[in-house]
Amino acid sequence: MPQTHRHLKEAPVTDPRTRDDLLEAMRLGCPLCVLIERAERKAIDHFLYDQVNDISQRDALRASRGLCLPHSEMLAEGRSALGVAILSRDILRTLTAELEASGGGSRGGLKSLLGGNPNAQLADRIGPQAGCPMCAEHPRLEAPLFTGLFHNLNDANFAAAFDASAGLCRVHLANGLRAAPQAAGRDLAARQAAIWRRMEAVLDEFIRKNDYRFNEPILEHERDVWRRALQATSGWYHRDGDE
Ligand SMILES: [Zn+2]
Ligand SMILES: [Zn+2]
Repeated sequence: MPQTHRHLKEAPVTDPRTRDDLLEAMRLGCPLCVLIERAERKAIDHFLYDQVNDISQRDALRASRGLCLPHSEMLAEGRSALGVAILSRDILRTLTAELEASGGGSRGGLKSLLGGNPNAQLADRIGPQAGCPMCAEHPRLEAPLFTGLFHNLNDANFAAAFDASAGLCRVHLANGLRAAPQAAGRDLAARQAAIWRRMEAVLDEFIRKNDYRFNEPILEHERDVWRRALQATSGWYHRDGDE
């Protein structure tokens, strides 16, 4: 019996817009990285404008001590200084209260008598008590994109565009393989292997031409291969600041 990931099993047939979005995103990098980054920026702006006074969201953000570093960067680049100020004040108050509650008084003393290092315990309380809420949204954002990707890879034109691109990054390839029906997963793995073999050959050329003994010009598609390879191997993606 073919294994079907539960996210995909009941998913509706893919939105035709997903095909165009994926094709466009593939020109910039891993299409999942590109589209999720875009969705997250929208979600962050929406949150800063409309939900910053939502009590349950604020509770979650106090517990997580804000967002992780990549998502904090998006916050800083977002469009609401006021939203960030309200959010940061909230977290700052929580952290200060932890510092004041420890206060070097009997509470810390008792814990240290019980064998713990009170400063390390305080350090733990200052740190995140829950995961980044924006990171927690990833599976929900990825599911329809993977559904669209597997659906469209059955089409020869779409598959040719995928094969000519850098494909998926390591992180999204792994997530895609977990989400894929068995045959689709095998097909994706074979396509990605061919893409990475080709990238390896371009890296070979880039490295060879950087040797001072060779005096050959580095070609256009070789010039930024190091960056594409870094994205492929790490899952790092940062949109160029062109907006
Ligand atoms: Zn990716
Ligand atoms: Zn995050």
